[in-house]
Amino acid sequence: MKGNDKNKFLWKEVCSLNGRGFRMIYKKYPQMLLSRFMCIVWDVLTPYVSIYLSARIIGELAGARDVGRLRELVLITLGMEAFLAFGKALLNKWKNYVNSASYLMMEQFYVEKMLEMDFIDIDDSKTHDLYYKIQQFRSGGDWGLPRVLQIFEEFVSALFTILGGSMLTVSLFTSRVPGSAGAYMVLNHPLFLVAVLAVMFATIYLAPALSTKADQFWAKNSDKRMEGNRFFCFKLDFMSYKTDLAADVRIYRQDRFMEKYNNDKGGAFFSKGLFARYAAGLGGFYHAASAAVSVTFTGAAYAFVCLKAWAGAFAIGEVTQYIASITKISGGVSALVRVVGDLCNNAPFLKENFRFLDIPNTMYQGSLTVEKRKDCDYEVEFKNVSFRYPGSGVWALKNINMKFSIGKRLAVVGMNGSGKTTFIKLLCRLYDPTEGEILLNGINIRKYNYLDYMSIFSVVFQDFRLFAFPLGQNVAAGVNYNGKRAKNCLIKAGFGERLSAMPEGLETYLYQDFSDSGVNISGGEAQKIAIARALYKNSPFIILDEPTAALDPVAEAEIYSKFSEIVEDKTAIYISHRLSSCRFCDDIVVFDAGEIVQQGSHEKLVADRDGKYYELWHAQAQYYA
Ligand code: ADP
Repeated sequence: MKGNDKNKFLWKEVCSLNGRGFRMIYKKYPQMLLSRFMCIVWDVLTPYVSIYLSARIIGELAGARDVGRLRELVLITLGMEAFLAFGKALLNKWKNYVNSASYLMMEQFYVEKMLEMDFIDIDDSKTHDLYYKIQQFRSGGDWGLPRVLQIFEEFVSALFTILGGSMLTVSLFTSRVPGSAGAYMVLNHPLFLVAVLAVMFATIYLAPALSTKADQFWAKNSDKRMEGNRFFCFKLDFMSYKTDLAADVRIYRQDRFMEKYNNDKGGAFFSKGLFARYAAGLGGFYHAASAAVSVTFTGAAYAFVCLKAWAGAFAIGEVTQYIASITKISGGVSALVRVVGDLCNNAPFLKENFRFLDIPNTMYQGSLTVEKRKDCDYEVEFKNVSFRYPGSGVWALKNINMKFSIGKRLAVVGMNGSGKTTFIKLLCRLYDPTEGEILLNGINIRKYNYLDYMSIFSVVFQDFRLFAFPLGQNVAAGVNYNGKRAKNCLIKAGFGERLSAMPEGLETYLYQDFSDSGVNISGGEAQKIAIARALYKNSPFIILDEPTAALDPVAEAEIYSKFSEIVEDKTAIYISHRLSSCRFCDDIVVFDAGEIVQQGSHEKLVADRDGKYYELWHAQAQYYA
């Protein structure tokens, strides 16, 4: 994001972007904002109580010195201080409670979007780039939605600082220098009010303008900062706290070349880097100038208050009150101007956030329900289906025609890249065909309610994920599960022996992220659990996409020999590039370059010496015969 993009934003757009961010957060987390609001107002107004009461005490000490009155003032001060401290503690407790997961709460907006987004967009690298960019904005200065929270806090704080201070300053201008003060009576002239306000506004404009100028450098160079950040984070990952990288890094001593990249590209942050040089040079100057301007105003305000006190307009107690209040007001107004700068600076970042959150769902959503047939008599048909991935000129599938009905075991075979997984993605409606149609019981699958349609499939994808939760929860894909059913599914998937060796059974945590007694499982074992999860869902269709890729030949043979038994009366679609795995299937379709080139039983296909299947079979026979 280039900082000068900011100039292209009109004030109206700046307000609408920040306002939208604010409304979004408020709608989802009203308590989060309310608790912050209350804490800030309390914090901001508290010092004014002390300022007011100490002015009264000083006034009394310098004036009548009435012991009774002094005692009363001291007791009121102590009582108020205790009350304010107690209130602050209570409010902070509430705020900490509702804000404890604020980072994750912000993240929730993106997670929910990801979940409801069309798969076609999730699969799109542009979506990931955009999401990654937004993450970078966040880590490199809390820009975007988190910044809206900060701006809100700064705004409330500035506003109440000004209001509180103004209330305590009114009498500075209304208290008149007595006639006995001679020439000092000129201080009663209303022009002094105008002059004080003019100096204040000049300071208010100049001080933040100078400091914003310094900060603009960071926004302007956010690309470099992001790049530096990326290399810096990558280095941390790289330097072995990620165990999956540790072995490689050690064996090849890859840290050395990482060091080089980090110094060249990530060096923006180092002591001689771009940002350090700026902070020591021009950036430092702007910050210092900004501080100097503020001090000038404070000096002028001191002079005015002291002169009026000297001339007898008010006593020493009020002097402390006015000085403290004016200093606070000027700080408050500068903060308010900084808020305006921040709103502008945040606008381009928010725009990118909303570009992500506004990615539309373009996939047609039907409303038909998939009747839950007792006989599970579902028939799926591909009719002239062709498919191209978005942005790709190549057909991943070409003119696919096939029909499969309940209870069949269908194998889909072919070399890597021949279109097998794409075929399954279309069947599960993760994508819609570019041409042709897919029918379920004669009706285009687009017309069904999507979630309902998905409920008839259990799929074990190649890149399935298990979570670091108890085994039983992984199998059931839910917190509550039927233990007996989960156990049966694990046994069917070939995990029975391992399960009986687990002291905590289904309650055993997988991996050690959340439990020290969690178990690490091999790729093959994970695959068996994933198969058990597919069985537990008990859908009429079960699809296994290269399910044996991580299984050793013994485990593979074990699963295949029992496969028919495992899937029972379900329709099984089985994808593999290992032909030996598919012999048991009733029907085998052979994919080649996105087309179905052969279909039939193993015996029929292997007999066709000119066919693709024969070629593949003999190429693999040496390993799997
Ligand atoms: P298989 O499962 O048989 O290995 P795939 O269905 O994964 O084959 O891939 C079929 C073709 O589609 C390949 O040419 C592959 O490069 C391409 N392809 C797969 N996924 C994508 C994607 N997300 N974007 C673009 N092309 C893809």
